[in-house]
Amino acid sequence: MDLLDKLNILSAAAKYDVSCSSSGSKRRNTPGGIGNAAVSGICHSWSDDGRCISLLKILFTNYCIYDCEYCVNRSSNDLPRAAFTPDEVVNLTVNFYRRNYIEGLFLSSAVIKSPDYTMELLLQTVRKLREEFKFNGYIHLKAIPGADYSLILAAGRYADRMSVNIELPSQKSLKLLAPQKEMNAIIEPMREIGTMIKNNKEEKNSKKKVLKFVPAGQSTQLIVGASPESDFHILKLSEGLYNKLSMKRVYYSAYVPVNNTPTLPAIKNPPLLREHRLYQADWLLRFYGFNAEELLDNKNPNFDADLDPKANWALNHLEVFPLEINTASYQQLLRIPGLGVKSARRIMSARKTGSIDYDDLKNFGTVLKRARYFITCKGKYYGGIPIREDLIKSRLINGKSETGEQLSLFQEPVGKETRSLAFLESGE
Ligand code: SF4
Repeated sequence: MDLLDKLNILSAAAKYDVSCSSSGSKRRNTPGGIGNAAVSGICHSWSDDGRCISLLKILFTNYCIYDCEYCVNRSSNDLPRAAFTPDEVVNLTVNFYRRNYIEGLFLSSAVIKSPDYTMELLLQTVRKLREEFKFNGYIHLKAIPGADYSLILAAGRYADRMSVNIELPSQKSLKLLAPQKEMNAIIEPMREIGTMIKNNKEEKNSKKKVLKFVPAGQSTQLIVGASPESDFHILKLSEGLYNKLSMKRVYYSAYVPVNNTPTLPAIKNPPLLREHRLYQADWLLRFYGFNAEELLDNKNPNFDADLDPKANWALNHLEVFPLEINTASYQQLLRIPGLGVKSARRIMSARKTGSIDYDDLKNFGTVLKRARYFITCKGKYYGGIPIREDLIKSRLINGKSETGEQLSLFQEPVGKETRSLAFLESGE
């Protein structure tokens, strides 16, 4: 099989792995080397600053000894198979980089022969790229669950980011859909990588020259919708990964129905909206100070498809609203729907020099269409409707009043109506 055929097969086979995105790596070029993750960016899709950048995203091989039911590459599927050699991946990466097609490499793999054998091949590839070709572009490398830790940790010296994919969010689902895999064989390498990353950071603080180890952190991927776990279960798992294993990113991948088996849900399309809600909630965990139990619980274990998780939380906690923009703490500001980290910071900074008006908020990037129902500005409420869950929910979803009330042409427009906080509190 020629290289182009392999490339076609193994780049198509890699498309189900979504765990590659921004990582903030600061790897710089070295004299006589090529590539520079610090300058060129380090992502397959979107960088932290919103740029779209490109990685060569391939599987090393799609030959697999395992038969995971949800996976297109499972051993029992009859499909074209291929495997690169380490030299082929190195040459492709270097040549694509020189032609300016890519800014880095995302290298994953199915499991050929054994986890150790596969990890050894991946290790040879990245070692060659870094040591022989002085490649300093971004490398995101998969760690193969079940491989010897010494191989995984050796590969970590050459990678910017590593990931071990959990895929299924519980041991029970793993047993049902991927019985050859063990949850421990997935979690333990993550723990090892996490410990090495932590130690590496500490060493860097104490010594001058320390070998890098996965400087852009580790990530993982969870498949959403192939198994029955709720959003609450998935979010709690992510929270544990962030808090206990210092995970940099958890990626959510809506289950794509590629195989027909009775153990998988009979869906036609991937649950993309559910995936989107989980990403929004994940954002709230990482940057807005929320925890999973504030967003969902056993009684309400799944997100409302119609509302983003922050708006959903706010509607369930109307007792804390409206918040006065001129006195709310930074953490409180972050809880207002429509108000992001940037605008909260701008509000805090602007308050040092004076009070903020409703109009000022527009300049801070606040989405007033949503925030107006949850705030007061200098004591005035601009929501135009009583603070009631059903009314606000309807406005947030449809932009209309629940009662469908038609305003008179001569009535004061709702957006300009202002009421005092005292009036609303009295419920008159
Ligand atoms: S081990 Fe990976 S590639 Fe192989 S069948 Fe399972 S999910 Fe697919």
